[in-house]
Amino acid sequence: MIPFLDLRQINSPYIQELEEASLQVVRSGWYLLGESLTSFENAFSAYCEAEYCVGVANGLDAISLILKAFDFPPESEVILAANTYIATLLPVTALGLTPVLAEPDPATMLLNPELLENHITGKTRAIITTDLYGRSCEMAPILSIAEKHGIKVITDAAQAHGARYRGRRAGSMAHATAFSFYPTKNLGALGDAGAVVTSDRAVAERIRYLRNYGSLVRYQNEYQGVNSRLDEIQAAFLNIKLPYLDRDNARRKSIARRYLEEISLEEARLPPSDRIDDDVWHLFVIQYPYRDRLKQYLAEKGIQADIHYPTPIHRQNAYPNLSHLQLPVTEKLSREVLSLPLHPALTDDEVSRIIRVINLYKTAIGSQQSETSPGGRAANNLSHE
Ligand SMILES: *Cc1c(COP(=O)(O)O)cnc(C)c1O
Repeated sequence: MIPFLDLRQINSPYIQELEEASLQVVRSGWYLLGESLTSFENAFSAYCEAEYCVGVANGLDAISLILKAFDFPPESEVILAANTYIATLLPVTALGLTPVLAEPDPATMLLNPELLENHITGKTRAIITTDLYGRSCEMAPILSIAEKHGIKVITDAAQAHGARYRGRRAGSMAHATAFSFYPTKNLGALGDAGAVVTSDRAVAERIRYLRNYGSLVRYQNEYQGVNSRLDEIQAAFLNIKLPYLDRDNARRKSIARRYLEEISLEEARLPPSDRIDDDVWHLFVIQYPYRDRLKQYLAEKGIQADIHYPTPIHRQNAYPNLSHLQLPVTEKLSREVLSLPLHPALTDDEVSRIIRVINLYKTAIGSQQSETSPGGRAANNLSHE
């Protein structure tokens, strides 16, 4: 059985260092806002080639705190890609801002800059770009559109630690960038953790207050903050794993390269390969009209694939007020995307086996009955471009 991901396997190269670091924190008697956090913040901002990093409790809070720091007026509109993970949307609505869902480019599966201006109104205050699956969004046109309209660009880089776009790192381009160190991410803690990276001093400082009850000096509260701190033990783990991030991303890339070169499955659309060196391959996502059947077939052959994401955010029960939206590109993606196993601990033999098994899958068009997805919509031959 080749699991989609096995965290024990992923962390096994670091196990001794992680154990030593946890002992050190346990014995230090200092568990929050200490030296491990400061050293991680310094190391991660340098890694991202940005000025500041502020550790927070998780990726969701990172997005939320960025939005809070910008202090947009109520009912401001925030544009985001409709095919993102729900964590990009939740802070927008939680703060009473109005989400505007934009269709992604079907080839890159990322926010389509050409559609952006259609969504900009007098109330638009920000665009959130999600660097989905480990690839930076098309930042040059997005930043120039934002500048023209005087709006902020926020990046959700929870899946893109180390990704580059035209030489620049994720974290160095947007006004503020949110990272998650959820255990399955390219840089993963052993619990929850997140960070905001920015080169805007005022934003960094505001978030330093906000994450700690609006306070930098004990019992002096300058803002109505929250409790969202990245604790010392997770920071210590991240300090250990950060130096290996580039090596891990390089391993991901070499697996992605093999998938791109060797997978041959009629009617499947592979992820874009034009920026193979810059993308960090958090997930390897193919689009395939008979996705559910292929996933089942792989499972029968002992290969666990996964779906990111099976239900678009506007179709979630959590958002009945968005259910009227018609977003055909996003809806089609939700029916057709399939993530193949891809992580640094995957062996060459496993990669070979995954490729071999996929290449043996024959699409018997005609004998295919229409397939139903969790969204309840049928995918048939005609629905494929
Ligand atoms: C993981 C993830 C998040 C949320 O991160 P948490 O640390 O789990 O809160 C946000 N956005 C995207 C795109 C993610 O993949």
